[in-house]
Amino acid sequence: MARVYNFSAGPAVLPLEVLEEAQRELTDFGGSGMSIMEASHRGKEYSAVHEEAVAGTRELLGLSDDYAVLFLQGGASTQFAMVPMNLLGDGQTADYANSGAWASKAIKEAKLIGRVNVAADCGKEIPTRVPRPDELRLTPGAAYVHITSNETISGAQWKRFPECEAPLVADMSSDILSRPFDASRFGLIYAGAQKNLGPAGMTLVVIRKDLAGRASERLPTMLRYKTHVEENSLYNTPPCFAIYIYMLVGRWIRKMGLDALYRRNVDKAAKLYAAIDAGKFYRGTAVRECRSDMNVTWRLPSEELEERFVKEASKQGLKGLKGHRSVGGLRASLYNAFPPEGVDALVAFMQDFERRNG
Ligand SMILES: *Cc1c(COP(=O)(O)O)cnc(C)c1O
Repeated sequence: MARVYNFSAGPAVLPLEVLEEAQRELTDFGGSGMSIMEASHRGKEYSAVHEEAVAGTRELLGLSDDYAVLFLQGGASTQFAMVPMNLLGDGQTADYANSGAWASKAIKEAKLIGRVNVAADCGKEIPTRVPRPDELRLTPGAAYVHITSNETISGAQWKRFPECEAPLVADMSSDILSRPFDASRFGLIYAGAQKNLGPAGMTLVVIRKDLAGRASERLPTMLRYKTHVEENSLYNTPPCFAIYIYMLVGRWIRKMGLDALYRRNVDKAAKLYAAIDAGKFYRGTAVRECRSDMNVTWRLPSEELEERFVKEASKQGLKGLKGHRSVGGLRASLYNAFPPEGVDALVAFMQDFERRNG
């Protein structure tokens, strides 16, 4: 069976090696006579998986002992609420940078919990972009500053993170572990796994431990970061199988090398942007300096042509290129596991499509 080139934004392509490893040990994990899916989350097989997933994350992000690594459920969308519930105290203000659809959702949830200052707003600008760090009008004494490192839908990405006194919080759902960065500048990072880390069902949270102590004791137990820090994400049953796949993905990233993967990601995106910029037929939708290396977005001269493009590409095994339903257009997601040959195939298809329809 042939594998297609899967450009989906999430759930998204996983490294073939990881899928094959999971397949090999699916019914008998490490000679235990059972699948890791069937194993107790307190047993020795799963414990080793859990510990490697934590340690791998620590290594890849260069985390000090000041940070805890958590595997939670409810997706990044639950973090939109958990962050303010835990970090935004009475009478405090949280600063949010609005960069588009996902940042807007984070802002909407935070406003249900407490006072929000939208420190910069380019959420509706076309062409799309993220705020420049110097545009942020930050609140003195803010509880935290929230950014969305990569807007998955519009295809705009922060290339340089803001300096701020308040703890920096980032939704990194669609670009975590796609590039090296200084994690010690962040108070909290969260990411739904189904873009760049693994299957849906697990949310990675990296939190500076002192921030976990901020929440009120009246907050329900499961919604408190403190609970999960103290229990190493084993207060209740964690999403074991998703964490296991994430552990294998972490192994794969360490083997490939984060720097090498980053260079590969930049090259893949640059090749596609060059094809978009080559003529007038295709038009990139993000401001050049903010173009995402993960989600490349562009338009064709008409919606009719866009529809035909998606249909014909799909027939050639180039799947998942339709833009998000809220914005239309085309989107190619080029996460870590997406192979460079897939970009070459897409570029060749684009040139051919333009010749026939331009
Ligand atoms: C996909 C995505 C989300 C939502 O993630 P869920 O896990 O579906 O809740 C939030 N933020 C960003 C940047 C995303 O790409």
